[in-house]
Amino acid sequence: MKKILLVEDDPFLIDIYQTKLENSGFEVEVAENGEKALELLKEKVFDSMLLDIVLPRIDGWKILEEIKKMKEEKKDLEKMKIIVWSNLGEKEDVKKALSLGVTSYLIKANFTPSEVVREIEKLLK
Ligand SMILES: [Mg+2]
Repeated sequence: MKKILLVEDDPFLIDIYQTKLENSGFEVEVAENGEKALELLKEKVFDSMLLDIVLPRIDGWKILEEIKKMKEEKKDLEKMKIIVWSNLGEKEDVKKALSLGVTSYLIKANFTPSEVVREIEKLLK
């Protein structure tokens, strides 16, 4: 079973996406803030991470920078597919994300939960 880390602070979205992903056959762990996300990334191995950018205190950008540093010691992070899904959709945001090792960048408003799941399935094939 593929393991997904869902990093999201909106309880409504967590509920929808956790259910949707689990029903699609993924094992899901949720981090509702940046600290929890970094803790889980240190402890466990994930096939993919669905990452919100705007989060309280430690945001998605900071998480991506930390992952870059952690990769030296934790090699499984090289293989983890990172999908940013955010309402930030400026070209600069997308460029910055790609330069930080993100595989795919989805604008929240343009994707339904089913489409996001399909995108994850495609990346993990
Ligand atoms: Mg958010």
